[in-house]
Amino acid sequence: ARVEEKLFQNRYLVDAGKPHIAIRPHEKPSENLLAMTRICPAGCYSETSSGQVEITPDGCLECGTCRVLCEVAGDVVWNYPRGGFGILFKFG
Ligand code: SF4
Repeated sequence: ARVEEKLFQNRYLVDAGKPHIAIRPHEKPSENLLAMTRICPAGCYSETSSGQVEITPDGCLECGTCRVLCEVAGDVVWNYPRGGFGILFKFG
């Protein structure tokens, strides 16, 4: 297959795999990160009593909203691959 097709397959597998999302440690969340506590449709994001944002990604719907809003700014990290899914599985 052409490289582009392989890349597409990898992208597809990555997106289809269940993400493991982590929040960068912070003292004060950015506006976007804080907004996730209201926006995330699965309610994965919550605010702690001390004002940080934490995530419990178990029920994540993979809508991608937090990735769009927070990953570029470095507020959250999507870690791939995870447990048998993702690029390493594809190449492995
Ligand atoms: Fe919530 Fe969507 Fe981010 Fe999953 S991808 S944690 S459902 S905003």
